[in-house]
Parts: sequence; C-alpha cells; structure tokens
Amino acid sequence: MSFKDVIGQEDIKAVLRRQVETGRIPHALLFSGPSGSGKLAMAIALANYILCQHPAGGENCGQCPACKQIAKYAHPDLHFSFPVIKKSQTTTCEDYRKEWTDLISTTQYFGFEDWLNIMGTDNKQALITEAESDRIIDQLSITSYEGGYKVMIIWLPEKMRGEPANNLLKTLEEPTPGTVFILVSNDTFTILPTILSRVQNITFRPLPAQVIADALQQRNGLERDMAMQIARIAGGSYLKALQTISVNNEADNYFKYFTQLMRAAYSRDLLALKNWSEDVASWGRERQKAYLEYCQNMLRENFIYNFHRAELNFMSSQEQQFATRFSRFINERNVIGFVKEFSVAQRDIEQNVYSRTVLFDMALQCIILIRK
Ligand SMILES: [Zn+2]
Repeated sequence: MSFKDVIGQEDIKAVLRRQVETGRIPHALLFSGPSGSGKLAMAIALANYILCQHPAGGENCGQCPACKQIAKYAHPDLHFSFPVIKKSQTTTCEDYRKEWTDLISTTQYFGFEDWLNIMGTDNKQALITEAESDRIIDQLSITSYEGGYKVMIIWLPEKMRGEPANNLLKTLEEPTPGTVFILVSNDTFTILPTILSRVQNITFRPLPAQVIADALQQRNGLERDMAMQIARIAGGSYLKALQTISVNNEADNYFKYFTQLMRAAYSRDLLALKNWSEDVASWGRERQKAYLEYCQNMLRENFIYNFHRAELNFMSSQEQQFATRFSRFINERNVIGFVKEFSVAQRDIEQNVYSRTVLFDMALQCIILIRK
C-alpha cells in the first residue's frame, strides 16, 4: 500500500512524507474528515512508508521483507484496532482478524455500514471494547520486532467510550518509544477532548469531483462521461461514488430482466417465461422484492411516457429508448392491473411464499395484461 494508491490528498501526502523523511513523526496522529476521503488508505500508506526498510522517492520500496509482510497484512509491528460486536467480556479485534484482513486486502475504501455487514449484523452497537483497549496496551508495551517503529492504526476511535478511552489516554500520554498512533475518525466531536489534545490533527477535505472521476476511470474502468456524472453527485466521497456504481449495475440488470419478461409475455413464449421466473427466483428475497419494485416503477413510467410530458418522466437513456417502442402497450386498460400483479407478487415473496410459483403465475398474468 503506497501513497500513490491513495486517491488525491496530495498536500497531506507531502506533509506526511516530510515528517517521516526528517525523522519527526508525531507519536499520535488523528486523521479526521468525511467518510470516503481516503483517511484509512492514507493511514496504511503512511504505516507502510514508516516501516519500509528502503523507502525511495517518497514511496515505500514494495520489495523489502517489511513491505512484503505489510502487503499481506502480516507485519508484526503494524496493528489495527476497530469497532467490533461484543460477543463476550473477552471479545477483541483478534476475534475478527480474518474478516478485517480480508476486507482491507480487498479495499481501503469502505464505511462503517460495510464493516457491520461483514460482521453479519445491523446492530449499530459495534464498539472498541474494554478487552480490546487492554490488548492495545499489551501489544504496544512490547518492543518492536524489527527494532524500529510500531504503528497502531485505530479506525473509528469515536466508538471507544468510558474505561477503554481512559486506558488509551494513559498510553497516549506516555507511549513506549517508537510507537506511532494513527487515529482515523469520521466524527471527532465524540472523541474525549483529552485524547484530542494529545494528537496532531490532520483534516482531510472532500475529494474534488475531477479527482474522483479520474479514479473511477482508472480503477473502475468507467467511461469519462459516466465517471464525471457519478463524481459530481458523490459529494467528495469516493465511497459514495462506488456505492452509486453498484446501484447502477443493479439497475442495468433489473432493466434486462424487465425487458425479457415483457418480450416473452408479448410473444407468449412460455418457456422463456419459465426460465425468467427460475432466474429471478434464484436471487435473494430482498433482491427479488427490489426488482419487483423497479418493475412497477417502469410500468408507471411507460404509461406516463404516452402523454409526452418529459418533465414527468424519470428514466435512464436506455430505459427511455425502450419506452419509445414499448410504452404503447401500457395503457389505461392495463396499467393498474399490471402494477397490482407486481405488488401482490412482492407482498407474497415478502411473506415467504414459494418465489418460483409466485413469479411464474405473475408472468402468465402479464400475457393477458399486455394484450389489453
Ligand atoms: Zn520496503
């Protein structure tokens, strides 16, 4: 993980490089700023730069044993602490080590919600536990394995309350020599003021749209126009841009299955309708429900399209193109019937009725409705 892997924030990279190169690394740094601005990515890049044995040209070498260990997140002097779901009094980050390592090996741009999902919970009570703060102190009391620095990255220190926060404070006051703390926070208002007073704060600003667009082109293979369009609504957060892409991909897929269904219903192709219902039934229930919602919306949009009131239509360009030919099949005789069929199917799926049957019955109704 090098500085070049961190999107934008060049001024911050320059400050950090200078601190390391002049040997004036603060013993505790706080990276604050909005989610999706690259704070965690920067913390890892900085840790790598500090621990690399042969840094050159403002970057870590990527070749030395330290760099190789960091690439696998297996360096004995690089530690992470983060909020976890407390299963017992002894729960620490060690219990989630594999999940965490898998995640940061895949991406350094993710949010608290993503992490909760990976831990398999929507319970927002994930915390940096008391047992975890003891573990931090234990780990930092040992001298570094390689004889140099030890880096402790604490992700979301605002999730550390009461006793654990007080314990950490003592360590921040008198750190063992060579220890570097990097606190990565989305919300510094809830961190103890006594902790804040002991760290050097570096504020990350939202990323400019141009920078996000470049990253979307280079890292996610988007076309320039699409990249710029998404970057503009991302509000300076690469994370938000990524979330928009995944929603867009899903919409493409929903569109594909909507047109498939309508074409098969129009041509009374029972085999195609059966295959369609089996395909959709194989998705998770939540996704099936979201798809049926999408279909209802498309039906309404196509009905409205007949009135030639562009300001009332909200369709993507491919949906609109389809509507030029399809909208004439959705009229006052069938629009309500269509929407009702889809919403009943949605409700049945919600109530755990066998999806494949529900979807196939609905597809058969579409044969009748589309001819009305
Ligand atoms: Zn190296």
